[in-house]
Amino acid sequence: MLIVKKFGGSSVADKDRIYNVVERCIEDYEKGNDVVVVLSAMGKTTDGLLAQAADMNPDAPKRELDMLLATGEQVSVAMAAMACSAKGVPAISLNAFQVAMHTTSTYGNSRFKRIDTERIRHELDSRKIVFVTGFQGINKYDDLTTLGRGGSDTTAVALAAALRADACEIYTDVDGVYTADPRVVPDAKKLKEITYDEMLEMATLGAKVLHNRSVELAKKYGVQLVVLSSFDKVEGTVVKEVTKLEQMLVSGVTADKNAARIAIMGVADEPGIAFRVFDLLAAKNINVDVILQSIGRDGTKDISFTVNTTDLKDAVRLLEENNDKINCQEILTDENVAKVSVVGAGMQSNTGVAAGMFEALYGVGVNIRMISTSEIRITVLIDEADADKAVRAVHDKFLSED
Ligand code: ASP
Ligand code: MG
Repeated sequence: MLIVKKFGGSSVADKDRIYNVVERCIEDYEKGNDVVVVLSAMGKTTDGLLAQAADMNPDAPKRELDMLLATGEQVSVAMAAMACSAKGVPAISLNAFQVAMHTTSTYGNSRFKRIDTERIRHELDSRKIVFVTGFQGINKYDDLTTLGRGGSDTTAVALAAALRADACEIYTDVDGVYTADPRVVPDAKKLKEITYDEMLEMATLGAKVLHNRSVELAKKYGVQLVVLSSFDKVEGTVVKEVTKLEQMLVSGVTADKNAARIAIMGVADEPGIAFRVFDLLAAKNINVDVILQSIGRDGTKDISFTVNTTDLKDAVRLLEENNDKINCQEILTDENVAKVSVVGAGMQSNTGVAAGMFEALYGVGVNIRMISTSEIRITVLIDEADADKAVRAVHDKFLSED
C-alpha cells in the first residue's frame, strides 16, 4: 500500500511530538507500506515568521513573504528525517523544488498545476520514508510559492492523487470533523462520514479542520480522506463521495469570524456596475462571499458583500483606486461581523431549514444582516459578538439529541 500521511503544525510542535509522528510513520513502514509524509511548519512557526515580516515591512512584497514562509516546512521535514534516521529507519526530506511541485505563479495563494513523481517513487523504491514539505510549490519563474494558510492539507491530497495513493490520512489536533466546534458547543458530535460537498462548505465556512482546496482536489480526483488525531488512536471522520449513513438533514453548524463586510454606497442603478466591482476583485484573487444588492432608489443603489478580513485592506484600496470606473459615493467597512452557516446534503430535498435557523436566531435575539444560500447550506451574516451564541442556538435546533 502507498500511504500519504499529513501532520499539522501542532503535531510537530516540538522534539517529542516529531518523534511521536515518526513512530506512527514507522509502524506503517514496517508493515511493508510505502510511506509519504507531508508536514506543516513546527507549531506556530508560520505565525512567527509573518510577525517578523510585518515588523520588517508591513507591506512586504508577496514574493519575499513566500520565500520566508517556505522555510518553516523545510525545518519540519529535515527534523523528521533526522528523527527517523535516529530510529534506524532510512528517510529523506524533500522540498517543493526537489519533488518538484509546480504551481501557478500567484504568491501567497498559488494552486498546484503538476507534481512530478519520479523522485518520490525513486526514494520509495529504495525503501525510504519520504518527508515532503507541505504548503509550498515552485512557479514558472522557479520562485517559491505558498498555497495559502493551512495549505499543507492540499499538498497531501495533491500528492495522493499524483501518486495514486491507496490512502490519504490527515492527522491533526482534533480527532475528526464535528457537528460544530466542540469548544463552542460542548455536545457537538463527531461525524463518522461526510460528503466532499458538505466538507467543502464546512471548510470554506471556517471549520478549520481542512484547507478548502484540499477538499476540492480530493473530490476532483476521488481521493478518499480520513481526518484523524495525531495523539489518540481513535476512529476519525471519512470524507468521501457518498456516505452510507442515512443522509442527515443538517451535518454541521459553522462560524467564520474572519469575515468583513464592504458596502459600496450610492452607485448608479444601471447595468455593468456589479460586473465591474467583482471583476476588479476577482482579478486580484480576492474571494467574495455573501452578496447583497439593495433595491434601486432615485437612480442609485448599494452593493454589500463579504471578504476575508485578511483581504479587506487590499479590497478597499482596489475599489478606491478604481472609483473612476465604479463612481460610488462612499465605501463603508465592518470587520466585526461573522458568518454562521448550517450545512447538510439533506437540505436539497427538505424545505424549512432556513425557517428553523431564523427561528433559532430570533429565539436568542440575534439580528441577521445578510443571508445567502446554496443547495446544501444557509449562511447568515451577524455581529461577531453574537457568533458563539448563534452557533449554539442553531446546533440546539437541528443537532441536539434531546
Ligand atoms: N504552515 C502553514 C500555515 O500555518 C501551512 C499549514 O500549516 O498547513 O498556514
Ligand atoms: Mg490545518
